[in-house]
Amino acid sequence: MAKRYDVIVVGAGPAGLMAAKTAAEDGLKVLLIERKKDLTEINRLCGQFTNVSMINTGGKLKYGYTKPIRLEVSTYGTRIHFEEFGISLDYEGPWRPYLNYIYFSPSGNPVYREKGRFFGFFTEKESLLGGLLKLGEKAGVEIMPETVAVSAENIQEGVKVRVRCKSGEESLEARRVIAADGTRSAIVESVGLNEGRQQLTKRRISLVGYVVEGVETEYRLNSWVAFTIPSLNPHTSFIMSMLSDDRNEISAYAVGERSAEENLRAFMKVSSFSSWFRRVQLVRKVAVGGAATWTPIMEPVAGNVLAIGDAACLIEVTNPGAIACGYMGAKATMKEMQGENGYRDYIAWWQKSFDTNDPDYLKGAGRGFAINAVCTDEEVDYLYRLVGGQIGVPGVLVAENLEQVKNERLELYQKLEKAGLGRDLSGMKLDLAKVLEEKGGQGSPE
Ligand SMILES: Cc1cc2nc3c(=O)[nH]c(=O)nc-3n(C[C@H](O)[C@H](O)[C@H](O)COP(=O)(O)OP(=O)(O)OC[C@H]3O[C@@H](n4cnc5c(N)ncnc54)[C@H](O)[C@@H]3O)c2cc1C
Repeated sequence: MAKRYDVIVVGAGPAGLMAAKTAAEDGLKVLLIERKKDLTEINRLCGQFTNVSMINTGGKLKYGYTKPIRLEVSTYGTRIHFEEFGISLDYEGPWRPYLNYIYFSPSGNPVYREKGRFFGFFTEKESLLGGLLKLGEKAGVEIMPETVAVSAENIQEGVKVRVRCKSGEESLEARRVIAADGTRSAIVESVGLNEGRQQLTKRRISLVGYVVEGVETEYRLNSWVAFTIPSLNPHTSFIMSMLSDDRNEISAYAVGERSAEENLRAFMKVSSFSSWFRRVQLVRKVAVGGAATWTPIMEPVAGNVLAIGDAACLIEVTNPGAIACGYMGAKATMKEMQGENGYRDYIAWWQKSFDTNDPDYLKGAGRGFAINAVCTDEEVDYLYRLVGGQIGVPGVLVAENLEQVKNERLELYQKLEKAGLGRDLSGMKLDLAKVLEEKGGQGSPE
């Protein structure tokens, strides 16, 4: 006879941990299944950036979870407030404000997307997860680490979940399941929620990051730095984010012949920024492989299974967004069990709370990407010099100054125009899906 729970939560990322804690605090018998041994260990790339209110995304307010969150720092400690729900979480890790968001061209011309303005902060993801885990344990969540959920199947009055652990395979049952197992979710796939979803790029994408110490530049702290160097990475920018202590994370991703790691090494050794990395010590390497880009699941419910967080989204919900999904997902599940329409409420909230669920999102996000994909290093230098005095997303600024490009560099203008840049300034009509398929890259807020 299979063990039976009120709710099984699959995946202990920020969405699953928050869902499990919230459901258990509401009195439900909750099982949390996670394939990792140490639930809070972060063994993959993550910028650990949290945007509080506004970040300049070329006319839009916020990337990811669009509702405001607030960081409160006082002598009593640090708390993160989710204003939409009126809930708060204690946060015991380090934090630092982000004040600048800078893009550099290959030879170092800067374009500021944010300058000298508090637009978000670094929070350590392990601490964030650790805090949620502690609350979940206190509320009585049963935890099954080192266990892989293989599939879920709707049955009468509930769901059966097949899991694989060290001792072999077994079946578990619950009245409801919350799938929080991230992108490429096994649960989403097995209950048929990927049907009708469009996969935006079929090519394998590799992402790699180095956590390093000893970066030598004034931009090491309080700045999110992107480097647009087509000759070293035609798909997207290299990113340098700040971490705690003396650490930064430098990352790259790639599609095709050269690996992300080769691109990253070349960036640190031969680019005009190599002097920043002369004396760095590698602390650890982090990676994400085969990241898929799917269109979002607009109605992430199949029978008694609700998919939340990255399991249902386009690109990423972000960490605060995942926590919000966990809270809303648990509340919706509780309502359903009480005979109310919780899933309907969740779907309505889900569709309006993330910019990546906006059908027009894909059309706008590709501007910076297009510049990278179609320009040479020298052309990026020219374009960044052209718009460097203004504040904004480089692609958007270039689109707004296309007339000048046309007068000064007709051939470049024609290339940008052909790629879709500037076709519609207000509506941002570049079709990222098409560019992605042609170039094999991945969408990003860049
Ligand atoms: C390269 C990169 C950089 C990012 N940078 C930032 C950033 O700076 N700021 C930000 O806010 N967000 C960032 N994000 C996004 C953020 O990491 C995600 O949106 C967030 O982690 C989603 O949370 P989640 O709980 O839905 O999924 P995840 O965090 O992916 O958690 C899923 C969990 O499920 C487990 N799991 C998966 N499959 C199974 C299975 N079959 N059985 C059992 N367990 C399973 C996994 O081990 C994992 O613990 C970044 C993402 C990437 C890829």
